[in-house]
This record gives sequence, C-alpha cells and structure tokens, in this order.
Amino acid sequence: MIRLILLGAPGAGKGTQAERVADTYSIPHISTGDIMRKAVADQSKLGAQVKEYLDAGQLVPDELVINLIRERLSSDDCAEGFLLDGFPRTVAQAEALDRTLSELNAPLTHVLELDVPEQMLIERLVKRGEESGRSDDTEEVIRERLAVYNEQTAPVSDFYSKSSRLVKIDGTGSIDQIEQAIKEKLN
Ligand code: AMP
Repeated sequence: MIRLILLGAPGAGKGTQAERVADTYSIPHISTGDIMRKAVADQSKLGAQVKEYLDAGQLVPDELVINLIRERLSSDDCAEGFLLDGFPRTVAQAEALDRTLSELNAPLTHVLELDVPEQMLIERLVKRGEESGRSDDTEEVIRERLAVYNEQTAPVSDFYSKSSRLVKIDGTGSIDQIEQAIKEKLN
C-alpha cells in the first residue's frame, strides 16, 4: 500500500515523476495544480475562485484547497493508495492532511522530497514556459512562485522532518535516474 506525498519546489520535477510513479503502482495521481488549471479552463465556479491566484503565482487560500483534497481522498479510488503532487503547500495544509488521513485510518506511508538547487529550478521553469506555454511559467511569475515556495512551503519539509517522516531524493539527475531513486525508496 502506497500513500505518498511528493514534495519539492516548482520545477523540481514533481509532476513528471508523479505521473510515472502513479502509473507503475496503479494509484491515483492527485495534483492540486492540475485540478485548479482544469477548473480555470472549464470556467467552473472553482475556476473563477482560483484564477487570480494562479495567474499571480500565489497560493490559493488553505480552506479551499483543504476542502478539495478532503473530498478527493474520501473517494473510493483512493482506498488502494494515492500520490499527492503539489499538496500540502503550507504547514496548515499538512496538519489538515494528517487529521483527514487519521479520520480515514489511512496514514501516509511515504513523504519524499525532490531536492534541486534554485538556479537549476529557474532554468528548468523558463525552458518549460517556452515549451508548454503554461501561463504561470513567465520569468516574473516564476520568481514569485519560488519566493512563495521559500516562505510558505519550505516549512512543510521541516514539519515532516520533525516527525522523522521526510526522505530526500537528489533531483538533479536524468528523469530515469530520479525515477529509479524514488522506486528504491518505495520498494
Ligand atoms: P502547481 O501546478 O503545483 O505548480 O500549481 C500551480 C498553482 O496552483 C500554484 O502556483 C498555486 O497558485 C495553485 N496551487 C496548487 N496547489 C496548491 C496548494 N496546495 N495550495 C495553494 N495553492 C495551490
């Protein structure tokens, strides 16, 4: 049984690795960023609530994301495990996740963090912006997202480190090498 969160800065490769891992272990890949980008594209009520935050590279309010994740984790397909990508992004989200999972009797089995130096993050994000056209991969928004990460999300690693749950993985190698390193930790 794998109930995993994948931590790491924007550009650390979470999304790429999350897809591969979820595929290998046949578990749902739950990306809060993907859910919210889709909501914006679909022009749903949620989309209208979150669009300005995504465009500015800022975090959507905790309550909104926490409710979204609580609902998602309660659905049937998560009974066999799951992979969270992009959540939790604040200590309040991490605490809420612990409470939700304890209610569901389904504690996390793995907390992995992809470790990548900041200069490499910027290079990767600029390149991704050129290739994918993701609207928040412009240089100005990239800098804002990294600042938000350092201020609000880096403490999440300390939160898991304090409870001896954090396992760091070198995120500087090739996609295949990193995938291998993750699987070694999971097996
Ligand atoms: P991502 O695709 O994970 O980089 O997320 C893209 C954007 O979605 C972020 O810059 C935030 O605006 C928003 N977002 C995604 N996950 C969260 C979260 N857990 N808490 C708050 N905002 C989030």
